[in-house]
Formats: sequence, structure tokens, C-alpha cells
Amino acid sequence: MHIVLLGAQGSGKGTQAEILAKKHGIPHISTGDILRAAMKAGTPLGAKAKAYVDRGELVPDEVVIGIVRERVAEPDCRKGFIFDGFPRTTPQADALAQALTDQGLALDAVVLIEVARDILMDRMTGRRVCRSCGATYHVTLNPSKQAGVCDACGGELYQRADDNPESIRTRLEAYDQQTTPLIEYYRQRGLLAEVDGLGPIESVAARLEAAVKAKESKAR
Ligand code: AMP
Repeated sequence: MHIVLLGAQGSGKGTQAEILAKKHGIPHISTGDILRAAMKAGTPLGAKAKAYVDRGELVPDEVVIGIVRERVAEPDCRKGFIFDGFPRTTPQADALAQALTDQGLALDAVVLIEVARDILMDRMTGRRVCRSCGATYHVTLNPSKQAGVCDACGGELYQRADDNPESIRTRLEAYDQQTTPLIEYYRQRGLLAEVDGLGPIESVAARLEAAVKAKESKAR
């Protein structure tokens, strides 16, 4: 199962990618997580990405494409992956297709998770992330059992620096301008499925699973 999740920030891609990846025993690859880990570790990649991530702008294509080319060449990607937050531009989508072809792989489905704009803002400002394991919560919609503490590993929950109203606006603008053309890109290639991202996490997960299955059986 080689899947890309598309959707605006706050649409629940990360949460859903995690569920799908666990269920199918395949890696969840988030370029945002990779960049944040590099920033935290102070690597050259992190230093290159930091100013863009802090402003809510996209990191240059060649930087993220380099990360992804290396990642899809790792052995665990042979049996599948869930991409979350990549590709975000047409050059990234072209580069992903090429990198997969080079590995003898291909995408099975691209699932767009749709959520109305006014709801996205609320989801992002209320988001909390575990410093240790990266699990995500929402202060009201999906709270941890104990405030500020991760249910999964006991780590400290924090608010991402770019989950503030100004960065959120910039990020949504970047999504509208640079990422939405990918909806048509993947529709034309027969890979696109659309799911409603509203409602309980488990209901969205069930819709997503059904959408992926439908795409896979059509491809067979
Ligand atoms: P995310 O966690 O997916 O919301 O990503 C956080 C930030 O990382 C984004 O606002 C961008 O600055 C950067 N980023 C993540 N993925 C990409 C990508 N595919 N292309 C460019 N920038 C990215």
C-alpha cells in the first residue's frame, strides 16, 4: 500500500496517517516531522529549513526532494508507506513519481481529506504535540487524559511554534497556491480519492480505509 495523504494543515493527515500506518505495519513518512527532528538536532538540514518553517513558508523543493529520495530507497518502503505533507508542489510530485519508478514502485492512491476552512484554524490553534514521540492531540477535540502529558509515552505536550494565527494564515495560503494544483494532478492520473474529514477520528479512519481499498481493487 503506497499512499499519499493530501489536505490542508489541520485536516487530520498526521493523525490518520499514523492510524493507517500502524494498522498496516508500514512507515508513516512526514516531511514536517523529519524537518522538525533535524531542527531539534541542529543538523545542517535543520539549519537550512528553520527560517522557512518558522515563517510558515515551504522549504525549497530541492531540500525536501533530497530527503524523500533517500527515504523511499530504504528497505521498509518496499512493502508500503503513507506520505503525509509530501508532495506539496508539482515539482515535488514529479520527483516522487521518478523516485518511485527508480525503486520499481508506484503510488496506489492519493487521498484528499476535506475539511472546511473555518474548522481548520480551530484545529490548528488547539493542536498539541508530544515532544518525545510526536503523537498529536487537541485541547478539546482529542485531549490527552492528563493535561500536558502524552497518553502514549508520558512525554511533555507542547504547541508547535508555527501553530500561531499568523503562521497558520501563511501556511494555508501556501497550501492554496502551491499544493491545491496537486488535486487535479492526481485526479488526471486516476489516483485521487476524496474523503470527508469531519467527525470523530475513528469515522474518518474508516472512510479513509474504505477509499484506499476501493482504489486498490480498481487498480487490480
Ligand atoms: P507540516 O508538519 O507538514 O505542517 O510541515 C511543517 C512545515 O515544514 C511546513 O510549514 C513547511 O515549512 C515545512 N515542510 C514540510 N513538508 C514540506 C514539503 N513537502 N515541502 C516544503 N516544505 C515542507
